[in-house]
Amino acid sequence: MSSALDAFASYLRDHNLPVTAQRLAIADVVLGSESHLSAADVARELRSRGSAAGLATVYRTIEVLTRSGLVVERDFGEGFKRYETARDTPHHEHLLCSVCGRVTEFRNERLERMTTLIAEQHHFSRQGHRLVIYGTCDQCRRGPI
Ligand SMILES: [Zn+2]
Ligand SMILES: [Zn+2]
Repeated sequence: MSSALDAFASYLRDHNLPVTAQRLAIADVVLGSESHLSAADVARELRSRGSAAGLATVYRTIEVLTRSGLVVERDFGEGFKRYETARDTPHHEHLLCSVCGRVTEFRNERLERMTTLIAEQHHFSRQGHRLVIYGTCDQCRRGPI
């Protein structure tokens, strides 16, 4: 078991929630991924691994994962949420391809400083920010190979 999966199992036990094989399988998909998965993506990956779970169970388990702090919820305004593991990486921004749905991460120190400056200009006490750049990724721009 990975350490993150281990942490999730402890979280379940600590909160008197059943540690089921299904929950662990769902958590394994989310915690083992480096991308930004929707619940449908998680269900699809589960099926391909031969351990099917209903979408409702997937949603419930992801909710617990988010509450545990191991997973972060993202809303890119697509009409559904995406989930990524809460890594030790600092705050980052996202580029979202509106054709294939690929999410790319980036971090830019100047942008970070800019948000502080802008907040200061508005006498605003800054707590955080988020930025999503929408467009078309390189691969989609070039078209099918
Ligand atoms: Zn694309
Ligand atoms: Zn991300």
